Amino acid sequence: MTARLIDGNALAACVRGEVAQRVAALGARGIRPGLAVLLVGDDPASAVYVRHKVADCEAVGMRSLLERHPASMAQAELLARVQALNADPGVHGILVQMPLPRQIDPLRVIETISPAKDVDGFHVANAGALMVGRAGFKACTPYGCMKLIETTGVPLRGLHAVVIGRSNTVGKPMALMLLQANATVTVCHSGTADLAAHTRSADIVVAAVGRRHTLRGDMVKPGAIVIDVGMNRDEAGKLCGDVDFTAVREVAGWITPVPGGVGPMTRAMLLVNTIEAAERIGPA
Ligand code: NAP
Repeated sequence: MTARLIDGNALAACVRGEVAQRVAALGARGIRPGLAVLLVGDDPASAVYVRHKVADCEAVGMRSLLERHPASMAQAELLARVQALNADPGVHGILVQMPLPRQIDPLRVIETISPAKDVDGFHVANAGALMVGRAGFKACTPYGCMKLIETTGVPLRGLHAVVIGRSNTVGKPMALMLLQANATVTVCHSGTADLAAHTRSADIVVAAVGRRHTLRGDMVKPGAIVIDVGMNRDEAGKLCGDVDFTAVREVAGWITPVPGGVGPMTRAMLLVNTIEAAERIGPA
């Protein structure tokens, strides 16, 4: 069996089209959605991510406000900037690019962002909303993964889903979203004794580890849906995921590629959260 490819680029383009329509509808009411993106330091990967996020905003007609700050920025200074943006009615979403320099506590920063503008969905109020099944902003990567899974048309009720990884930003919210969709969920991590024993019985596997070839062909149930969140580099420096794509695609029913799978959907869901924030808050 050769798995069907789940095309994240195509789905992200559809999502962006829908967001652009919502932006236009708000524009007709005199509201221009705005996303503030804060970059602290000069990490080259972060600079690329931020550039993409700003370009995405502009492509759908949103206003983006990029603030660059030096790596030496004091925590108090950053918190003050976040508070000022919280109070700015023209800013509907605030994103502080991670990782932050050592002197800044990322949790303090996340907790300072108003939950109503926390379009990354990392604030404990939004994470808690997901936990108890209330409306809130969902973390963009797992939210995007759910959209990718939905395109298969497979009803999730009763299926066994295995999430590999338990980070606050990917693994844990992913598990909660799958649980909410009525899958039976297993969460694996570095202390899991026999990862393959879990993945072999899974109808859905989401790999969010950050290590190449974590999921091999012999670890996958025939026909399974495989979502690869990982972003790693191979020996040649080429971007690759956590899944051994060549081997797993011969066993799985559906698979996301890297690049072109989860990455574009993470970016698209940030736009969805931002338009939602603007629709909730209303005019400046
Ligand atoms: P993270 O915070 O480092 O978490 C990695 C998780 O993997 C941890 O829970 C860790 O377990 C687990 N793990 C490590 N080795 C393992 C093993 N041998 N077997 C099973 N589990 C293992 O990383 P993250 O932020 O969740 O990101 C994961 C990957 O996704 C990274 O490659 C990241 O770059 C990528 N990512 C991609 C996107 C995108 O848009 N495509 C977005 C976000 C992240 P412990 O908890 O026990 O340490």
